[in-house]
Amino acid sequence: MLTQLAQAVYVVAAVLFILSLAGLSKQTSARRGVTLGMVGMALALVATIMLAADQSQRPVGVTISLIVVVLLIGAAVGAWRARSVEMTQMPELIAILHSFVGLAAVAVGFDSFLTERVHAGYGGSVHLVEVFLGVLIGAVTFTGSIVAFLKLSARMRSAPLTLPGRNWLNLGALVASAGLLVWFVVAPAQGLVALGVMTVIALLLGFHMVAAIGGGDMPVVVSMLNSYSGWAAAAAGFMLGNDLLIVTGALVGSSGAILSYIMCKAMNRSFVSVILGGFGSDGGAVAAGPAAEQGEHREILADGVADLLRGARSVVITPGYGMAVAKAQYPVAELVSRLRAAGVDVRFGVHPVAGRLPGHMNVLLAEAKVPYDIVLEMDEVNDDFERTDVVLVIGANDTVNPAALEDPSSPIAGMPVLEVWHAKQVIVFKRSMATGYAGVQNPLFFRENTHMLFGDAKDQVEKIVQAL
Ligand code: NDP
Repeated sequence: MLTQLAQAVYVVAAVLFILSLAGLSKQTSARRGVTLGMVGMALALVATIMLAADQSQRPVGVTISLIVVVLLIGAAVGAWRARSVEMTQMPELIAILHSFVGLAAVAVGFDSFLTERVHAGYGGSVHLVEVFLGVLIGAVTFTGSIVAFLKLSARMRSAPLTLPGRNWLNLGALVASAGLLVWFVVAPAQGLVALGVMTVIALLLGFHMVAAIGGGDMPVVVSMLNSYSGWAAAAAGFMLGNDLLIVTGALVGSSGAILSYIMCKAMNRSFVSVILGGFGSDGGAVAAGPAAEQGEHREILADGVADLLRGARSVVITPGYGMAVAKAQYPVAELVSRLRAAGVDVRFGVHPVAGRLPGHMNVLLAEAKVPYDIVLEMDEVNDDFERTDVVLVIGANDTVNPAALEDPSSPIAGMPVLEVWHAKQVIVFKRSMATGYAGVQNPLFFRENTHMLFGDAKDQVEKIVQAL
């Protein structure tokens, strides 16, 4: 009875997850999407506890108490981290959470194999394949996500690891895993050895695949690992015979895959090449030539920018990671409302990979209550720069780098960028002449119509607001 009720609740939760994803596709309905997802997850947890209580061989009270204890510990740690994390650390947090999903899939896989081993037949060939693939995807996701976490938190260099014959290494790992799969299914009595060896290979593969990807291509990696974590969860669902986990895993897996595709298109990259580490391979090292080679840069002060803005009719703001670091979105929103009140046409141009997370800038601007209708995507604003009086580049660097279009040898060559240099005046807010995430020098800073406004972006925008 309880099991049937739990299955019915699972269906409701699955529908809520789908509605949640639909809601998240637009900024205006995103809040509703998140709420639906939370309700769906709460229902899923209650139903899972009901199922566990109904199917467990232990006394019901013990099963429920065990689940509630781990749930409380997990919820306490999760709530503490979610409250304390800085917006700029969000990508790292997401990467490390993906690693947990991978680790869970590995643990479920081993548990499932060892449990079924006790019963005759090891659960059949299909179950063995599920276990093997679940552990494989889980292990790749685990170490891949840890490397992504280390790179995003700057604990590991973002430049790619280029081992000789790296593609052959990856291929060799996959071929060896395929051989081990055959052995695992044919001779499950020695299955633990095959599973153990494959796990080590998969852990190394996950490490190598992400370590080989260059800085500028990290956005694709983050969304790709998101997708992997979904497939790992779906595989765990198959192993546990849990339909909701299969549906949820498939939703995460496919939406992550679609996001990876969108990011690749936005960066003009081939997905396969990024995964194989074919791009971004020189990131950081070659490109960051000395600033002096590029010519002289011009500086401006906040008062000067205020004067320029007073005389402008159209202004475009292109935010980047530095706006997130400085938490400048609030004074930026204030600046925008003042300029709009004075009749200036102000819009935002958001690059798809600005910041360190898909949609990072949109979240910050929404947080500061910037109206959605003036926040445009790169393609919507790129043709308008010629008719723009002033562009404020606030903490963006790689996403406004002309080298992407003009220098075929640049590690970010081919990536579409915000073509801000076509505007009459460009003001770049940053603290130094340092490079951005991809480690590539930016010729924009040395153009005739560019002025550098050095200092923390928040302080500088506040000064401009005061001057206005
Ligand atoms: P970048 O990382 O290229 O540059 C950020 C700039 O902000 C730096 O030049 C830095 O210069 C400046 N900055 C940092 N702190 C401050 C501050 N307090 N005040 C003022 N300026 C500051 O940013 P973009 O957003 O243009 O590009 C994003 C990059 O990140 C791309 O290479 C993208 O591929 C990568 N990436 C994106 C992900 C995503 O999903 N969006 C995920 C992972 C990577 P200075 O130090 O001199 O101040």
